[in-house]
Amino acid sequence: MYIVMLGAPGTGKGTVGGLLSKELNIPHISSGEIFRNYIKKHNKLGKEIESYITEGKLVPDELAIQLIEKRLEEPDTKNGAILDGFPRTENQAIVLNKFLEEKGKRINIAVDLSLPDKEIIDRIVKRRTCPNTECREIYNIDFKPPKVDGICDKCGTKLIQRIDDNEETVKQRLETYHTISEGLIKYYKKQDILYTVKLNNKSDLTTLDIVEDIKEYLNKN
Ligand code: ATP
Ligand code: MG
Repeated sequence: MYIVMLGAPGTGKGTVGGLLSKELNIPHISSGEIFRNYIKKHNKLGKEIESYITEGKLVPDELAIQLIEKRLEEPDTKNGAILDGFPRTENQAIVLNKFLEEKGKRINIAVDLSLPDKEIIDRIVKRRTCPNTECREIYNIDFKPPKVDGICDKCGTKLIQRIDDNEETVKQRLETYHTISEGLIKYYKKQDILYTVKLNNKSDLTTLDIVEDIKEYLNKN
């Protein structure tokens, strides 16, 4: 089963994707996280990726596709994957479809999480992330603070603020997102696998509710 998580930055792709991954027992593959791991290596490729990410720009298609396909060749994806952040352009979506088709596989659902921009900016600047790749818990200093300031409740790792989680970069990321997302959403709508979840910070739709709704959709389709 392949699930694509669409949606602007900060809408909960990582949180929903992480929970879905546990429930469905398929890996959660976050393109942003893969790129951040390359950045940590401090080599030429990492530096190149960092220059795009810190500006809120997309990593060029060719490079993004190459690195994600490499990940999708790993054996833990034999039963599928939750793709978070990839595809992000219509071209990436077309290439991914071809890649899966060649393996006799397909995308079962494209989940579009939508939240007003104003609320996104507020969420992201207050977001803190557990950098432990086995954990990846996400906090918000306002509405989901850790029990001990700056420390992950689950694994005790020191929380970080992502290099691109500041107001200026978020605004650029949102602009990038809105420019390219329309085509991507239309592409999945045409294939009749688009599932939209409308969110706002006041709604009481929890991550659990969203995951249950997605599972129900998958059972029916
Ligand atoms: P969130 O903040 O909720 O995690 P996001 O979508 O902004 O959402 P990531 O998915 O972690 O964050 O991506 C971080 C950055 O990595 C993006 O701003 C972009 O520069 C780059 N990136 C991630 N996925 C892709 C992709 N498929 N193609 C090109 N660039 C990408
Ligand atoms: Mg993410």
